[in-house]
Amino acid sequence: MAAGTGVFAEILDGDEVYKYYHDGEWKKAASGKSVAIVNPTTRKTQYRVQACSQEEVNKVMESAKSAQKAWAKTPLWKRAELLHKAAAILKEHKFPIAECLVKEIAKPAKDAVTEVVRSGDLVSYTAEEGVRILGEGKFLVSDSFPGNERTKYCLTSKIPLGVVLAIPPFNYPVNLAVSKIGPALIAGNSLVLKPPTQGAVSCLHMVHCFHLAGFPKGLINCVTGKGSEIGDFLTMHPGVNCISFTGGDTGIAISKKAGMIPLQMELGGKDACIVLEDADLDLVAANIIKGGFSYSGQRCTAIKVVLAMESVADSLVEKVKARVAKLRIGPPEDDCDITPVVTESSANFIEGLVMDAKEKGATFCQEYKREGNLIWPLLLDNVRPDMRIAWEEPFGPVLPVIRINSVEEGIHHCNASNFGLQGCVFTKDINKAMLISDAMETGTVQINSAPARGPDHFPFQGLKDSGIGSQGITNSINMMIKVKTTVINLPSPSYTMG
Ligand code: NAP
Repeated sequence: MAAGTGVFAEILDGDEVYKYYHDGEWKKAASGKSVAIVNPTTRKTQYRVQACSQEEVNKVMESAKSAQKAWAKTPLWKRAELLHKAAAILKEHKFPIAECLVKEIAKPAKDAVTEVVRSGDLVSYTAEEGVRILGEGKFLVSDSFPGNERTKYCLTSKIPLGVVLAIPPFNYPVNLAVSKIGPALIAGNSLVLKPPTQGAVSCLHMVHCFHLAGFPKGLINCVTGKGSEIGDFLTMHPGVNCISFTGGDTGIAISKKAGMIPLQMELGGKDACIVLEDADLDLVAANIIKGGFSYSGQRCTAIKVVLAMESVADSLVEKVKARVAKLRIGPPEDDCDITPVVTESSANFIEGLVMDAKEKGATFCQEYKREGNLIWPLLLDNVRPDMRIAWEEPFGPVLPVIRINSVEEGIHHCNASNFGLQGCVFTKDINKAMLISDAMETGTVQINSAPARGPDHFPFQGLKDSGIGSQGITNSINMMIKVKTTVINLPSPSYTMG
């Protein structure tokens, strides 16, 4: 089945513009305005989505608020049952959704299918985890605190926050949407999703799978439009009780503008790969290829700078070069390793970093080549701290190597970054690896493997400008609840078996 056909026909207005989702129905924006989604490969308009107005956002917020009240009274097992159903429908329709990912964000075909399947698994795991952790609370007695007798029994439970606003980025629009939707719903919240413009149609198909699962009207809503136009209105809306955002610097701006509500921010990274003298260089090279170049480097946890000890750098660079030469470059439909980057402005930004490095004397291990949004993989050796690429996130298939003379120099470079998402260290000495891991100011350190966000139940968090809070299924559920306590006061102390 193709995207926008079969069960998905109702989400499309004729064969023109994809509708937005409000109150259990697919709707057209009253203004008649739409936003074009340009295919990164053809650079032609592939899809159009509704440009929702502030008035439409207001209506969506109202529906989400009233649907949440009823949902909070829906038994936990029933919420889980619906999530399991949605997960199965999502996996059943993996191909049309993957087709959208290929056309909207140029994700290689196989990876696109993997993203949808992984998302279904994430939703199922969330349902199971939610049933367990949301069903548990605490029981405290008062006499453990000085000055108290046992006259108070404290019962804690977990209550929903209300309306959760979910804003995912373009690079994993389905997976990073469900990583917010699943925890929000199982915890008894309602949801307003603002998908990224590139990736919006994939998200709308995913939302339709939740619609087909039979969730109550108004519980899940999806408004489309440019973040720059409706973003502020959404994030500062008084009806929003929690924001879960994944993306770039926009998240920092949102955190300054948002009200007094819980924020989950997963932002950019400049993940360092520290390579010691005793590292298995073939393993390192394989991980640099996977970590630095998969999905053309457009991953938050991509390796974005290699910090290699001078004594092994020549050998490592040769090994990486040999593997770069084998990467397949071309359209996502052919499942190429390197596909066009998401927009022309992204490609221009990457080119700017490359040209800056060239002017300042970096060694180009390959010739720089670009056609449209397609940038050939490039390893830049002998990068120095005065080059922009030493610090900035290219979000493209361009990887700098900085040669270091001591472990301390590597750690210093890593910690001098304003980012602190993940990092990795390659060495056969586990004791050294642990010391380096402890010294690196990042949310996660991988030992002998490239950084990665998954598996989706692992805690995932960034320090400094890389984020607020922690994700991973369990942490996301816990972030989307508030603890409520009820205290039973006894007229006289009562001791168990006393
Ligand atoms: P982005 O430009 O920050 O956009 C992210 C989302 O924010 C999109 O849905 C975007 O919508 C929306 N948006 C834009 N302006 C907004 C505003 N004023 N208010 C509210 N929302 C607004 O990021 P991106 O280019 O999609 O993704 C790349 C970045 O995400 C990289 O920096 C990457 O490192 C980061 N990332 C982080 C993680 C993580 O977990 N740490 C994971 C993946 C990606 P429009 O598309 O309509 O503009």
